[in-house]
Amino acid sequence: MVGVSSKKAAIKVGVLALQGAFARHQKVFHELSVDAIEVRTPANLEKVDALVMPGGESTTMSQLLESSQLFEPISRRLKEGLPVFGTCAGMILLSRTILDGRADQLSFDAINIDVQRNAYGRQIDSFEADIKIDSLDQPFHAVFIRAPRIVSLGSGVTPLAYCGDDVVLARQENVLVASFHPELADDVRLHELFLKGV
Ligand code: GLN
Repeated sequence: MVGVSSKKAAIKVGVLALQGAFARHQKVFHELSVDAIEVRTPANLEKVDALVMPGGESTTMSQLLESSQLFEPISRRLKEGLPVFGTCAGMILLSRTILDGRADQLSFDAINIDVQRNAYGRQIDSFEADIKIDSLDQPFHAVFIRAPRIVSLGSGVTPLAYCGDDVVLARQENVLVASFHPELADDVRLHELFLKGV
């Protein structure tokens, strides 16, 4: 296990748990001794100081965000500065524009990026790569699963890591996004990086 250092017991992180890969994110926060609760309702959301939007299926998550009545309160908290970490499908949900999405698919427009869904191919084209991340000494093992590609970055967005020519980790103020699955790497450093901004 790489990088277990900070203990931020006072912070309560929420992991959006409507669908997808939320359980492994919770496990990483528990390894960091950070309280991480599942967010499924507006009442859950009120309790958290930061939020993770996990990987999964962004079209399904979009529907569930509406039916659970979470879309509006999350949107409001994001505008108020709620720190959020969107990974893979979570990045899609936070983006400004979704290419190859469903016509009725919603996004929060919380970070100035345009993303293309499934841009690296289908499930069998999933891949792994060691990437260099600004501010981390050692490379990070990134797992890409039917990953979205950031096809353009607008003003205010800072790229933090590349895979080939593509930006795969980026930040704009309170919003951090990764096109890969950091919770699958057995490495807590990206979650620590996120918590530093909380
Ligand atoms: N392709 C998925 C989507 O569009 C994202 C894949 C993932 O989160 N691993 O939502």
